[in-house]
Amino acid sequence: MSDVTRDPRAALARLSAAKRALITSHAAPDGDAIGSELGFAELAAALGVRTAIVNRDPAPASLAFLPGLDGVIVRPELPAGFERDFDLAVVLECPGLDRPGLSGLERLPILNIDHHLENDRYGEVNFIDEEAPAVGEMVLEMALAASIRVTPTMATNLYTALVTDTGDFRYSNATPRAFAAGAHLVAAGARPHAIAEALWEQVPVRVMRLTADLLETLELLAGGSVAVVSADRAMLERTGARPEDTENLINLPRSIQGVRVVVMFKAFTDGAVRVSLRSRDHTDVQAVARQFGGGGHKNAAGCTVPGSLEAARAAVLAAVLEAVERG
Ligand code: 5GP
Ligand code: MN
Repeated sequence: MSDVTRDPRAALARLSAAKRALITSHAAPDGDAIGSELGFAELAAALGVRTAIVNRDPAPASLAFLPGLDGVIVRPELPAGFERDFDLAVVLECPGLDRPGLSGLERLPILNIDHHLENDRYGEVNFIDEEAPAVGEMVLEMALAASIRVTPTMATNLYTALVTDTGDFRYSNATPRAFAAGAHLVAAGARPHAIAEALWEQVPVRVMRLTADLLETLELLAGGSVAVVSADRAMLERTGARPEDTENLINLPRSIQGVRVVVMFKAFTDGAVRVSLRSRDHTDVQAVARQFGGGGHKNAAGCTVPGSLEAARAAVLAAVLEAVERG
């Protein structure tokens, strides 16, 4: 069986045994996915391991400032001959090997690095720490364990991973450990003010227009404790927005007084609906996502439901209302 460890040195040992590593993360990547990948690539380079980052989907525009992002390869499949070109796959922030949306990864030995509760442990080495505030923080731990100098570019990428996953140090994972990592990364050259501005205050106008359209669909259920919003392809066409522009929009309905759960439906492709779930306090949306083959964390989860938007809505909202009654 494969090794599970919380020790960054075990992950370092596996990385150091590789010559050329393929780095990836989940489809529809967020700040922790991309920031961790870019930070990890620098760590690997410092250890003499060559790398390529391959993602199925592009980064949201808010992450365009990340140093090294232009080197990330975005493609729907792994490059031909990847089994020959790489001797390790490093899979970051993915509870299951289906999350990258790139088939064939299992043909390489895998180093699995994640902080999700229910990780499938699909790696040869599984560096898993559910107490880590972000995978970016775990990459920092590896760099510290290896006594690698954390450069300003690495610090910028890992700090971005940390702040996006902790909601600017506001969520329940904003632990002493998160702040300690933040302090370390700022001392190493990450600039909180510049990063916050790039992330949150340089929104393309198409995203603002999409936000307006999305909020038009807002519905409140269960006495105002469940907020529901939906985006479809027509909205993208009208506003010029792209699927990745929906990243973060789910946080707006969550800030409504009395709302405990937010459900966001995204019907951008035929025959399948992406569902994002957020909750406050003890309501467990991971349990809801799991009923539909998805997962995540207690307060942030997602799944993909086959069928029409109407059918997905009916099925998911029934499960959500049941979870709210239980919780
Ligand atoms: P998001 O709503 O931002 O896509 O995802 C929120 C959280 O749920 C993230 O932690 C993400 O990893 C997890 N998640 C989203 N979609 C899926 C899915 O289809 N399967 C699993 N296992 N986790 C998911
Ligand atoms: Mn994360």
